[in-house]
Amino acid sequence: MTFSFTQALAFTLITTVGIIAVMGVRVKTTLESKGVTVTSWFRTPFKNERVGGVALSKHQFGLAMDCVPANEKTMAIMRQVGFKIVIHEGDHIHGELV
Ligand SMILES: [Zn+2]
Repeated sequence: MTFSFTQALAFTLITTVGIIAVMGVRVKTTLESKGVTVTSWFRTPFKNERVGGVALSKHQFGLAMDCVPANEKTMAIMRQVGFKIVIHEGDHIHGELV
């Protein structure tokens, strides 16, 4: 069977989104088991614009999560779970997985 470029690209994108979704659910479940609530994860570009997210926000790729409570303990747990960037945004903690 031969795939066209478009079919191969679609397959790759769907597979990648699936992998990110499975990984994200695992991360979210782990955070929740430690008392951290995820308030935002995947965002469409439309939703990202509506909530004032930056243009290339990693939320649009499923690679960022916002969590509460917004405190040092949550930041430590997020780093422990594998977030590479953890930022205190005032009312929530923003974390990026890559
Ligand atoms: Zn965020």
